[in-house]
Amino acid sequence: MNSDFDLLVIGGGSGGLAHAQRAAEYGAKAAVVESGPLGGTCVNVGCVPKKVMWYAADHAHHLAHAADYGFDVGVNGHDWGALKSRRDAYVRRLNGIYAANLDKRNVAFIAGPAAFVDAHTVDVGGRQVRADRIVIATGGYPALPDIPGAGLGITSDGFFELEERPERVIVAGSGYIAVELAGVFALLGSQVTHLVRKGGILRDFDVMLGTELAEAMRASGVDLHTRAVPSAVEQTDEGLVVTTDDERRFGPVDCVLWAVGREPNTRGLALDKAGVHTDARGFVTTDAYQKTNVEHIFALGDVTGRAALTPVAIAAGRRLADRLYGGMDGRHLDYGLVPTVVFSHPTIGTVGLTEAEARLEFGDDAVHVYSARFTPMYYALGDIKQRSSMKLVTVGDDERVVGCHVIGEGADEMLQGFAVAIRMGATKKDFDDTIAIHPTSAEELVTMR
Ligand code: FAD
Ligand code: NDP
Repeated sequence: MNSDFDLLVIGGGSGGLAHAQRAAEYGAKAAVVESGPLGGTCVNVGCVPKKVMWYAADHAHHLAHAADYGFDVGVNGHDWGALKSRRDAYVRRLNGIYAANLDKRNVAFIAGPAAFVDAHTVDVGGRQVRADRIVIATGGYPALPDIPGAGLGITSDGFFELEERPERVIVAGSGYIAVELAGVFALLGSQVTHLVRKGGILRDFDVMLGTELAEAMRASGVDLHTRAVPSAVEQTDEGLVVTTDDERRFGPVDCVLWAVGREPNTRGLALDKAGVHTDARGFVTTDAYQKTNVEHIFALGDVTGRAALTPVAIAAGRRLADRLYGGMDGRHLDYGLVPTVVFSHPTIGTVGLTEAEARLEFGDDAVHVYSARFTPMYYALGDIKQRSSMKLVTVGDDERVVGCHVIGEGADEMLQGFAVAIRMGATKKDFDDTIAIHPTSAEELVTMR
């Protein structure tokens, strides 16, 4: 076959870039096609600008407690526009660094939207590019609910375009993005109404986490409503009003933010021309080795619908390159025990099975749960307290730890090391035998009885 490249990656986000660069390091002649700015969702409209906003909100939190520690500080406001300019400049710097990284490794960059012509050929703006192997790493985009007026609201993409902070906001959704962005708005001063369509938030997580976070969000002023299923949005003279299917009306507000999940970026790729299969929602179906049903076409990251997290996309991309170009036969990503953090206020860190999952998998008799609930010392001097909660889920006579769930001050930085221990098969005794670090919140994880 007469190919232009050994490898063509469609999508220059977390997974695509990681794969192309690792493959090029092994000597593959690689190219990346990207229709937008380099870095994909994470860098441009995801983790990176989100974490900047989380830091801003975290500052607001600490300023509220500064007087407890003797500071005489007054907050004279917060300039959302100035923060956005600095954040945008940072993201642009990262775009440049990503382009330089491709150059450094001799990975060709092709700008524009790619669509398959056949199983070895992709069209990018009229240019036909042929490659021996093709990797689909096109990520996803935020969903809008299928209700009248949904387009009057914004999604997380629109959140990052806001030039000023809306005073009154409705956030609809129950997952990561809903709680993270509701927290940012609330701490920076917006009046937040949070609509959750079922019984609570973060229903895919251990039930303790959603319960504790809902309590903390309410305490911080978020007006959280459960069983509130949006059915229409209308523009009134006073602002946007959301109606729910039981005829409740919420608003008027200046901004409605939908955080109701993400869809795969597969429309427009003409996957049928290459014969690549997707599931009913459009996610590319892959096996444990990131292989699609077509021998030389692979897919990784959010477009595969598995654990939509940046480090997962990167790990899948690097392992695939190790296997295909680095001589590491059999190397692939194990999707079990993926640690993750929700950048809510307070943060959540979690890895492994929830208590309910463990009971289902191993049976009630085999599962032993340890928990702790306490007020961190940080809040000892003031009147406003925020609790922390932790849970260890263990199974079997040796009490192997299969789940660790933490909400509270510092949970985001706490979990990485515990994830290593749990991956190595740590038991409750290993936790007990580890000397605590004092005074910290993390020490509670090794002193539970
Ligand atoms: P993407 O990063 O989405 O990259 C796909 C790329 O493909 C895009 O650049 C797109 O423009 C391009 N593309 C699509 N179609 C085509 C085409 N036809 N031709 C050419 N190019 C195309 N994860 C975390 O781990 N931690 C976090 O804190 C976190 N926060 C997040 C916050 C938000 C608001 C969002 C939305 C996501 C967040 N995520 C977070 C998830 C994370 O961003 C994604 O899991 C990650 O970016 C997925 O990487 P990917 O390579 O699969 O896809
Ligand atoms: P999620 O899948 O996390 O949550 C969306 C939730 O919204 C659904 O689970 C559902 O919950 C609810 N929902 C769905 N449809 C509707 C509807 N029509 N009306 C009201 N509620 C609805 O999606 P997100 O958009 O929050 O985030 C997408 C993914 O991005 C995450 O799953 C995560 O993988 C990644 N991400 C990671 C972050 C991190 O690592 N910190 C941060 C942000 C995103 P229910 O069924 O309970 O109603």
